[in-house]
Amino acid sequence: MADLDRDLRRLITHHGPLSVAEYMAAVLVHPRFGVYTARDPIGADGDFITAPEVSQVFGELVCAWCRVLWRAIGAPDPILVVELGPGRGALMADFLRVSRTDAEFHRALRLWLVEASPTMRASQRRSLRAAEMIAPPSWCDTFAQVPDGPLLLIANEFFDALPVRQFQMTVSGWRERRIDAAANGGEFRFVLSAPSGATALIPARLASAAEGSVIEVSPARITLASQIGERVARFGGAALIVDYGACESGTGDTLRAVRRHAFHPVLEEPGTADISAHVDFAALAQAANEAGARVFGPIAQSAFLERLGAEERARALIANATPEVAAEVENSLRRLVDPQAMGTLFKAVAIVAPGAPPPPGFE
Ligand code: SAH
Repeated sequence: MADLDRDLRRLITHHGPLSVAEYMAAVLVHPRFGVYTARDPIGADGDFITAPEVSQVFGELVCAWCRVLWRAIGAPDPILVVELGPGRGALMADFLRVSRTDAEFHRALRLWLVEASPTMRASQRRSLRAAEMIAPPSWCDTFAQVPDGPLLLIANEFFDALPVRQFQMTVSGWRERRIDAAANGGEFRFVLSAPSGATALIPARLASAAEGSVIEVSPARITLASQIGERVARFGGAALIVDYGACESGTGDTLRAVRRHAFHPVLEEPGTADISAHVDFAALAQAANEAGARVFGPIAQSAFLERLGAEERARALIANATPEVAAEVENSLRRLVDPQAMGTLFKAVAIVAPGAPPPPGFE
């Protein structure tokens, strides 16, 4: 990724050291050389794998969840189904295959895919070719472009890819961590900026954090959670956010790069590894709440999937399968629910309208 390397250095030369958020955004969605724009990093032969890529049960259960909520709000036709960052389209392909078992629901679906990368859009288009919808799916760059109306929104491993800023406590207070490049093509490295007004982003309760503490703040994620909360409160429907991170806001540097399923130094050969940071679910919940919506969770992904009937669904698939396929179904379900795999690090949050009852799985 010599091109991205050169572009980042050019930015640093002319604008000064980059915030962690600017670096993350460039690495992931640089218009030409980003991880998601230049190639497809998802899957066994890529950098990382996601729940819907592991098992069809994930997308099928998300569909069942959406269908219950759609009926609960009076089965509006049309209903917007919005997926943020659909990756290769695996979740939505599984969703649309099972939604067909309820003709009324399937007919009402108007699909909006929020996707920055043309490469990933092409991959999504291929996955959804067989979907047979009344209206073809629409793509847009940001959630703000999705039209108004009752909606069911899904975001699996999307928020972790939205950029975070990092601040570090020093003897002179919080200072932003930034990324600089050594002269003559030398290595990228973290530096601390001079104290600035940006530290107003940091919660007051952290004013006495220990020296050396690092905090992550994501204006991009909070803004989006607020926009989602506002839409759901105003038009009805629900949003399901599944991602990895802690329930409580805390301190710590969680920025990680992953290349071919192994950790990779964050600042080394940018663009050759996926990069993400833990989601602060408490911050998302607060933003959606303040925008007028009701929030349930976070709960562990394992609890969410088990309560929706993941085991039963897997048993049904196994009943009609060859021994090899049965073993595969069993293994992939274990990956989604086992605490040592994705079961507890991954969490689910539901955003619904004020006064709405707890959605399935969150009772
Ligand atoms: N939800 C999918 C893929 C997760 S990877 C799955 O579970 O398999 C993140 C996805 O979000 C990719 O499709 C990526 O291209 C997209 N993406 C990342 N940053 C984005 C941004 N800022 N705006 C829009 N899409 C983005």
